[in-house]
Order: sequence, then C-alpha cells, then structure tokens
Amino acid sequence: TFKAIVARKAEGGQSVALEQADESLLPAADVTVDVAWSTLNYKDGLALKGLGRILRTFPMAPGIDFAGTVRTSDSPEFKPGDQVILTGWGVGETWSGGFSARARARSEWLVKLPEGMSPRQAMAIGTAGFTAMLCVMALERHGIETGGEVLVTGAAGGVGSIAVRLLSRLGYRVVALTGRPEEAGFLTGLGASEILDRAVLQAPGKPMQSERWAGVVDTVGGTILANAIAATKAEGAVAACGLAGGTDLPTTVLPFILRGVCLLGVNSVDAPMARRQDAWARLARELTPADLDGLTQEVALEDVLGLADDILAGKVRGRTVVRI
Ligand code: NAP
Repeated sequence: TFKAIVARKAEGGQSVALEQADESLLPAADVTVDVAWSTLNYKDGLALKGLGRILRTFPMAPGIDFAGTVRTSDSPEFKPGDQVILTGWGVGETWSGGFSARARARSEWLVKLPEGMSPRQAMAIGTAGFTAMLCVMALERHGIETGGEVLVTGAAGGVGSIAVRLLSRLGYRVVALTGRPEEAGFLTGLGASEILDRAVLQAPGKPMQSERWAGVVDTVGGTILANAIAATKAEGAVAACGLAGGTDLPTTVLPFILRGVCLLGVNSVDAPMARRQDAWARLARELTPADLDGLTQEVALEDVLGLADDILAGKVRGRTVVRI
C-alpha cells in the first residue's frame, strides 16, 4: 500500500481524505512512478473542493502534476530509476494523479527530467510554471520584442510569479498587476519594474484605451483581461491562460480589427510533446535554483486539503510544492 489523498463519490458530491491506498486506485498504463513531489495549482484547489467539475472518475487521487522515479516500465522509452515529470493530460481530473505516493501514466505523457534539475525544482515550476513558459513562448512566436512593457496579471500567484521572473530575465519591462500590495517587495524581487493595483483594471473600461502593453500574460480573465486587451499596443499580443477572476470576457472586436491585437490562447493540458520538451529545456536554462527557492513554499501531503480554500481565495503566494 501507499499513501494518497483519495477522492470518492459521496452524498451531494465527493469526499477527499488521506488514506492508505492500493494498486486498485491506479489506472492501467505502461509506466508506474514513485512520486516524490507534487504541487498545489489553482485547478487542484477546484478539484479538492468539488468545484468546476474537475474530478470525473472515482475513486482517484487528485493532483494535476508530479515528479518522481520510474518504478516499473513496459515502455522502451523509460526504465526503472529514470526521473520523470508529468503535467496535464487529464491526470488529476479523469485519471488518478499526483497527490499519491504511487502513480501510473502512459509513457507518451512523461517528460524526462532535464539535466541539472531536481524533481523538487521541477515541481516548484509545476503546471503553473510550465504554463507561464508556454505564455512567454506564445508572445515570442508572435514576435513581441524585449524592451516593450509586458503586463502580468495575477502576478503574485503561481503562473504569475514565474511569468514575472521569466519575462524580466529575458529583458522585458514587467508590470505586475496584483490585488495584494503587500507582495510588492516579492514581485520586485522577481524582477517586476512596476506594481499595479488590481483595482485599477477591475472596473469596466472603454473598449479602446491608450496603448501601453507590447504583450500581456493574463491568468485571471474577466474585466481585467478585457481592459488589458483594450490597452495593448498595435500588433501586440495577449496570452490568456487563466480564469482566477472569471470566465467571461466583456470586450469588443475593436482592438483586434483596429489595432491588430492578437489574443493567444494557452492550454498546458494537451500541449504537444515537442513543445513540452522545448518549454522544460527553456525553464531549466532560464530559472536558477535561487529563483525557485524565492517563490516556493513546501508543504506535506496532509497539509494540502487545508490549502485548497486559500489558493481559490488568491491567498497563496508563488508556488507550493507538496512533499509526498
Ligand atoms: P494561483 O496561484 O491561485 O494564482 C492566481 C492569482 O490570480 C492569485 O494569486 C491572485 O493574484 C489572482 N486572483 C485571484 N483571484 C482573483 C480575482 N477574483 N480577480 C483577479 N485576480 C485574482 O493560481 P495558478 O495555479 O497560478 O493559476 C492561475 C490561473 O491560471 C488559474 O485560473 C488556473 O486555472 C489557470 N491555469 C491555466 C492553465 C492552462 O493550461 N490554461 C495552466 C495552469 C493554470 P494577485 O493576488 O497577485 O492579484
């Protein structure tokens, strides 16, 4: 047996509890992993609280990402002892996930741990950091050049804080939007040049505003995203990956048709393998261990249940790694 947070169907929804689980929890697939680290992402908060219909099969362990060591493998790609990372693919949603000392996955979902990166560092990055990198790569593909100002929303959260660190390291002038002015020091430490109070972008604004942003990484959606689009410079781009502030988008077509602004959707869950490998190689290059230590808190598996409310309330700073 092994320890796991197990979600079960219960009257009126689901129950979640730390248990001693056995192999019957794990779906059939070709690689079994001893999980060393997982993380707490916004989506895990939703899953643990039974919100947003994240968990679709029961019983299962939540946890949308993990890093660990291959225990057994029927795939020629992996052998016991290999260190691997998993993010997305519906793991922790429709497939038992990372809040479990043992996990099983399809070999085509696994990324080999980049040279020089520890499993703990990989999970300090986790789904959130991987998504931040995908957003940066989307802006780069669009040709957003360094030198311009890039807005990061939800900046003190997981995706936001790693986006701030990456963009400032790459030479962009980063403006960090946060609802937590007390995190200004944290954000300037990550390389933000300016802190903007969330309240400034929270009220509905004009569909076209004075041009400021060369690029945007948005983790919150809603009116804030609409205002960010309205103030994006001609030919600029907005990478949208999140919904922490809402799923609506009260905007008009004007910034798109009069300024050529592009809205770039980012989906980490189904990202193709070649892009995953590029993103992880870039993350290994651009982030130092000190960067990650500065934005990470470590918790034990048993602490995760108590943190679900906090992450949904926007109270968690940076990234949370979960020691399994
Ligand atoms: P997180 O750590 O909770 O960060 C979210 C941040 O958004 C919070 O820290 C807070 O930052 C801000 N925020 C929270 N509630 C808000 C509200 N009501 N209005 C405006 N801002 C609010 O979560 P995360 O794990 O980084 O994920 C961020 C978002 O990206 C989530 O919506 C998540 O589902 C999404 N995501 C998507 C993908 C994908 O593949 N597309 C992958 C990963 C994550 P401040 O306190 O600094 O304002």
